[in-house]
Amino acid sequence: MRETLFTVGPVEMYPETLEQGGKQLPYFRTDEFSLVVRECDDGLRALAGAPTGSRTAILTCSGTGAMEATVVNFLSGSERALIVRGGSFGERFCEICSDDGIPFDAVHVEPGRALDMDHLESRDISGCKALYVNACETSTGALYDISALGDFCRRRGLFLVVDGISAFLCDELNMEKMGVDALIVSSQKGLALPPGLSMIVIGPRLLARLHDIRPRAHYLGLQRHLKDMERGQTPFTPAVGIILQLHSRLETLNHIGAYACIRKVSSLAQHFREGLNGLPVRIFPERPSNALTALTPQNGSSANDIYLRLKKEYGLVVTPNGGELRDKVFRVGHMGNIRVQDLDRVLSALRKVMK
Ligand SMILES: *Cc1c(COP(=O)(O)O)cnc(C)c1O
Repeated sequence: MRETLFTVGPVEMYPETLEQGGKQLPYFRTDEFSLVVRECDDGLRALAGAPTGSRTAILTCSGTGAMEATVVNFLSGSERALIVRGGSFGERFCEICSDDGIPFDAVHVEPGRALDMDHLESRDISGCKALYVNACETSTGALYDISALGDFCRRRGLFLVVDGISAFLCDELNMEKMGVDALIVSSQKGLALPPGLSMIVIGPRLLARLHDIRPRAHYLGLQRHLKDMERGQTPFTPAVGIILQLHSRLETLNHIGAYACIRKVSSLAQHFREGLNGLPVRIFPERPSNALTALTPQNGSSANDIYLRLKKEYGLVVTPNGGELRDKVFRVGHMGNIRVQDLDRVLSALRKVMK
């Protein structure tokens, strides 16, 4: 049985991505490849709504590597981070700071709940230099209000670093409009490419201070990456194949534009959520992202058992949760090359499995 992925990365890929993946790779220290990389930079900045003067670093690592790069390059050893922690990805920023010896304050958000801006406003954040947030906290499917956070950061003199790994191309995310200073993107989610490539689009305010901070990393040192990017190159061997797949995907995406892409994911999410009517499930997050729908069974069944049965009996791979949410929440992704009919198969299987 050919399985269909409703996971949160990797996701179902498009035919042109698969075709590109089957080809022999070129050598990459060439003018031709530099041009490909520079066009990827242009395409990504356009989709991110990056302000003039922004730059992109293309890193060969999973999304977490790029998260780590934003800590070890953007904060000097004595500066504090303010981290929104409403699930395992918010927790990850905390762990990265701990390992790096960066002091931080965590804004605790009950999993699935929205961030209470009044609570944030009333906090003592003196000494904090940058706010770190996952636009969509993928572990719960919750979407944070990035515009409100951008406004908060501007008023309070903080840099805003947004992990847009699951929200990019699924929810509206515009750096200039929302006041985002750095946006982290990864290949295996909304872009629907293989995992292994992560990008950080860095706005002018953060770029200006990069030179004053000694990066606490070599491979992830962003100054080195940005310097090589001036000529369309990377300091180390990049995931050449994924860059070529990114290039071909961006051609399509820049042609249709970020807005049309988000609208497609949003209408899939809406279709799926309307189809849940009558099923014994509750949408877990208060303010759901379009990227996925996190569901809590209301009839006593275990979320993990539902995941296992959908995979084994129907070849439909939804996303299980770990830790405390293992039996409480399973997630249905809306990213990548899936259509309404595919989500209808999930709905109809759920009706049988949850009977
Ligand atoms: C997927 C994801 C990541 C990255 O995870 P990796 O396994 O390192 O690629 C980071 N943040 C969010 C919000 C994600 O959804």
